[in-house]
Amino acid sequence: MTLAFSYQGSSARILFGNGASAEVGKAVEDLQCRRALVLSTPHQAADAERLAKRLGPLAVGTFTEATMHTPVEVTERAVAHAAALGADCVVSLGGGSTTGLGKAMAWRTDIQQIVIPTTYAGSEVTPILGQTEDGIKTTIRSPKITPEVVIYDPELTLGLPVTMSVTSGLNAIAHAAEGLYAPDRNPIATLMAIEGMRALKEALPTIIASPRDGEARSKALYGAWLCGTVLGQITMSLHHKICHTLGGSFDTPHAETHAVMLPHTIGFNASVVPELMAPISAIFGGTPGQGLYDFAQAVGSPMALKDFGLTEADLDRAAEIATKNPYANPRPIDRASIRSLLQDAWSGARPP
Ligand code: NAD
Repeated sequence: MTLAFSYQGSSARILFGNGASAEVGKAVEDLQCRRALVLSTPHQAADAERLAKRLGPLAVGTFTEATMHTPVEVTERAVAHAAALGADCVVSLGGGSTTGLGKAMAWRTDIQQIVIPTTYAGSEVTPILGQTEDGIKTTIRSPKITPEVVIYDPELTLGLPVTMSVTSGLNAIAHAAEGLYAPDRNPIATLMAIEGMRALKEALPTIIASPRDGEARSKALYGAWLCGTVLGQITMSLHHKICHTLGGSFDTPHAETHAVMLPHTIGFNASVVPELMAPISAIFGGTPGQGLYDFAQAVGSPMALKDFGLTEADLDRAAEIATKNPYANPRPIDRASIRSLLQDAWSGARPP
């Protein structure tokens, strides 16, 4: 096989290591900033306040209303708050929801972003913003959205609840798994995808047994960085499209939806690109779909869409929405095959 590809790395600066978040003040100054606004969800407000205190005179305040799926009205309030305080950068402390708010602010105002991720979602290293207005979630892709600095401090993830660690880890694995067969894949992204999946496969069982295991937390966050980088570099297909549909139109929980769908979407595509999916079998065993299913079950993931309150009638509508517009996918898709795939995911059946 001959190679042909294009490759575009990211200009973001990555700091990784236990205690790395102590560098946040220096990161603010390195960006030539003096007035940071610390962002978080309400759940992590106390952590945001502590971080603002640590920044001392470099912080002008906090905004702790970040919300899943980045509602535009929250972003507008945050932008107004930042303007009133004269903020010149944001420090986003949290998971994909908080990172999403910082990105939405940067998209509107070009404000510089430092992100300190505390889940495995991977949004911090992508140029992608998903935001919601009037119940419709839309996606924008622009270099302007990519955060300038990411500080990965595994110590901040020691308290990430085990259930979220599992679903967020599977969310990360989904970025890598779809990266393997992307139409614009490249050798670097493939290396990162394989290494990222392997790191999470090794780390998650240890995290379940021992949630504060420093080595496993470090390995999982390293895997999340790699998988997120893959998401940021190349085109996603069926899996991300269906999860976007279920989250956007049926309000299913983000990471959990990825966790349930992953074995089914990957199993669906595996038969047409077996050589590209071979690394999944090598890492998880079995066929790609079954290997991922057995792993998800072993780490205690939710396994069925019906547990999120979806009805079988919802599946009809979801299949229709997810097949309305064409998109890249190795196996051709049609409404009937996607409806059948959704049925299996709804009941939690083991894929072929
Ligand atoms: P989240 O950010 O919504 O976090 C879920 C909850 O867990 C929040 O209350 C949060 O405060 C809390 N939390 C986060 N870290 C914690 C920790 N270490 N300890 C205790 N609690 C913690 O969940 P998520 O799955 O990280 O992000 C989901 C959102 O991110 C979705 O809106 C999704 O669309 C978006 N996302 C975007 C991209 C992208 O590239 N644009 C990629 C992945 C996810």
